[in-house]
Amino acid sequence: MLALVTGGAKGIGRAISLELAKNNFDVAINFNSSEDAAKDLLNEISALNNQVKAAIFKADVSNFEQVEKMFDEIKNEFNAPVQVLVNNAGITRDNLIMRMKIEDWENVINSNLNSAFYCVKAAIREMLKAKYGRIINIASISGLIGNPGQANYSASKAGIIGLTKSIAREYASKNITANAVAPGIIETDMTRKMPDNAKDFILKQVPAGVTGEPEDVAKAVAFLASENAKYITGQVLAVDGGLTMC
Ligand code: NAP
Repeated sequence: MLALVTGGAKGIGRAISLELAKNNFDVAINFNSSEDAAKDLLNEISALNNQVKAAIFKADVSNFEQVEKMFDEIKNEFNAPVQVLVNNAGITRDNLIMRMKIEDWENVINSNLNSAFYCVKAAIREMLKAKYGRIINIASISGLIGNPGQANYSASKAGIIGLTKSIAREYASKNITANAVAPGIIETDMTRKMPDNAKDFILKQVPAGVTGEPEDVAKAVAFLASENAKYITGQVLAVDGGLTMC
């Protein structure tokens, strides 16, 4: 079965691509700027599991034309429909609202939220034909509880959660599930960019007391992509060391 991971060459996306390959999924790995990392990952996957096929696809997923072209390329390469879609691509452009540029608001919404809608729109017909689909959207705890300095990011991630629940309601009867995974603070380039005081402030509120690893998120995604999760849809699974429990 074929899985597509957007932004699948680095950080959390890379861990998801590896975990899905480990679980015997063929993997289409999307990248935008990280071409070298994508090529390295292909070698790693073939060393890990030579029973699966993996290939890399360059596209800016915030652009619908590029998304459509990527889906055509994936179909030509694998001759199979994307049955597991992981919308992982995302960026931050943090600032307080009064200093946030319109451009930073729009870029974050385009890259984090519109991209997911574009990929779902491009994937859904084939999933319906195949009578099988697993859509997993990477949200964030910021989309659940907000975060000062991240109005754009939090809005995009709250939007991802609304999108996920709507997909779940539209397609639950068609054997297509849609779930979101909401990571807390995970060690990647994205969080390495955060000021230490902002990271420490959040970390103090994490019951587990430590940051998470990309693999923690990847394992949750692999579960939701599996047959074992067939009766789970429209859910938000927080992978956050207990930060957002209610
Ligand atoms: P990262 O290391 O900065 O990676 C971001 C990924 O998104 C890269 O692979 C990048 O691809 C891709 N990307 C961004 N814009 C893209 C576009 N327009 N088209 C295609 N790919 C694009 O960050 P990360 O921590 O792994 O983040 C992965 C996801 O987890 C994001 O959705 C993020 O919001 C979410 N998340 C992360 C954390 C955390 O603590 N790290 C917490 C909550 C949620 P290229 O490098 O090829 O451009």
